[in-house]
Amino acid sequence: MSKINQRRVLLVHPLGYQASAAKTDIARKANLMPPLGLAGIASYLEVRGKKADILDCFAFPLTAERRLKTYLEMLKPGWIGFSCTTSSFLDGARLAALAKEVLPGIQTFCGGPHVSALREKLLADYPAFDFLLVGEGEETVFQLMEEPKNCAKIPGVVFWNATGKAEFTGFREPGIELDSLPFPAYEKLIGFPKTYRLPIFNYPKAPNTSCISSRGCPYICSYCDRSVFRRTFRFNSAAYLYRHLEYLKHRFGIRHVNFYDDQFTFNRKRIEELCQLLQSRPLDMTFNCAVRAEHVDGTILEMMKKVGCWMISLGIESGDAELLSRHRQKVDLDFMAEQVKLIKKTGIRVKGLFMVGLPGETTASVRRSIAYLKSLPIDELNVAKFTPFPGSPLYENIHSFGSFNENWGKMDCMSFQFIPEGMTSAELEELFIEFYKTHFKQRRILLNYVAMLKHSPDSWLRFVTDLGSFLRFARHSDSRMLK
Ligand code: SF4
Repeated sequence: MSKINQRRVLLVHPLGYQASAAKTDIARKANLMPPLGLAGIASYLEVRGKKADILDCFAFPLTAERRLKTYLEMLKPGWIGFSCTTSSFLDGARLAALAKEVLPGIQTFCGGPHVSALREKLLADYPAFDFLLVGEGEETVFQLMEEPKNCAKIPGVVFWNATGKAEFTGFREPGIELDSLPFPAYEKLIGFPKTYRLPIFNYPKAPNTSCISSRGCPYICSYCDRSVFRRTFRFNSAAYLYRHLEYLKHRFGIRHVNFYDDQFTFNRKRIEELCQLLQSRPLDMTFNCAVRAEHVDGTILEMMKKVGCWMISLGIESGDAELLSRHRQKVDLDFMAEQVKLIKKTGIRVKGLFMVGLPGETTASVRRSIAYLKSLPIDELNVAKFTPFPGSPLYENIHSFGSFNENWGKMDCMSFQFIPEGMTSAELEELFIEFYKTHFKQRRILLNYVAMLKHSPDSWLRFVTDLGSFLRFARHSDSRMLK
C-alpha cells in the first residue's frame, strides 16, 4: 500500500446541507460562484512545490462525496483543508470526519469566516479538525504543510498545545502583498468557467466569472463579519489587475467579470490607472463592482463606464435613517439617492442591496425601506435576511435585541434566524416578500427585463431553462404568505 503524500492537499468547499436538497435550491441555480479563496491557496501552494486540488461540493453536490472518497483512496493526500462559512461549517466537520475514516493519518484543517470568528472555542467541539486557520490562508497553509510540528510558531493557527488546551498563535501581520500572489488556479475548478454562473440578469455576456482584487474594508457596520481580513484594505495594483483580466480573457475566454471586492473604488488612484490602462489597451470586457456611495463621483463613473463598467452594487440596507444610523457610519439617505441617480445618469446599471430584520427593525421601518426603494431608479434588487454571524459586532449582544436561534446550518441569510423584539417571523417573511413584489411590479422594472432580451440574452436563456424551479419557488413564497 502506497504511503500518504505529505506534499499533497485536497481543498474542499463544502455544500452546507444535504446534497439531495441541492436540486431544488433556487439560490444555487441562480448564482454559483467559484471558490476563489481556495483557488488562490491552490496556486500559491503549487508555485511552492506542493500538490493541491479542489473539490467544490457546491458545484457538484450529487457526486462530491464519491469524488472525495475516490481522491483520498487513489492519491492519499497528507492533508485535507476546508473553507467554511457559518452555514457550511457543520458539513465541513462531517466531511473531515469522513476523510479520517477513509484515510487514517490524514491531517485536517479548516479556515474561513466562521473559524476566524470563533477560533479556540471550536477546536474542542469539532475533533475532526486537527487545526483551525484564522485569517488569510495562503502562507499559513504552506507553513503548516511544511512544518506541522512547529505549528505553535506559525501565525494564524489554532492547535492543541502541550497542556491539552486549544491555543491561537495570533494574527498574521502584516497581510500578504497581494501583487506577489499568483492568479488563482481557476483551471483546477472542474468545468470553469461554464460551471460557474453569476446571478441571472447581472451580466451582459457569458462566459463570465467573479474575481477579487482587494481584501478588507476599513469601515465598521454592525452586521458585517470582517473576521478574515479585518479592518485593513489591501489591493492589487492597476497593472496587476489589468494582467489578471487579460489572463482571464485569453486563457478562459471570459467576457465579463464581477469584482467581488467589498470596496472596489476605495483607492481612487488605482481605479483611475486601471481605466487608463483599459482605455489605451482595450480588452473588450465588461465588469460589475460594489462600491460605497461616498467613493464614487461623476468623473470616476464616466471613466469606469467608458471602459466597460456594466453594473454597480450599493449597500443601501435600509430606507429608515434612524434604524440605519444605529448600524453603520455616515448615514445620509438623500446623498445615497443622489449617488444612485448619478450612476444611472452615467449609463451604469444599479443593484440595490437591502437587508430586513436588523435589531430595531419594525413593520414601519421595513415599509419605509420599501418606499425608499420605490423612489430610487435601481435596476436590480437583493434583499438579505439579517443574520447575526459570529464575526459581526452585533453577535456578542444579539440576545438583548430579540430572539436568536443559533442554528449554524440555517444561517445563510435565506431564513430569519433572528427575530427583532416586537416582531414575529411571519411578519418578517411577509414584509420580505412585499419588498420583492413592490420591486417587480413596477412597470419600469418589467420593461427593463424585456430589454434584457437584447442586453443579456444568456440570462433569458437560463431563466427559461429553469423556469419550473423559479415558478415553484414563487408559488411556495406565495403560499407562505397566505398561511
Ligand atoms: S458592510 Fe460594507 S462598508 Fe460595512 S463594514 Fe462591511 S464591507 Fe465595509
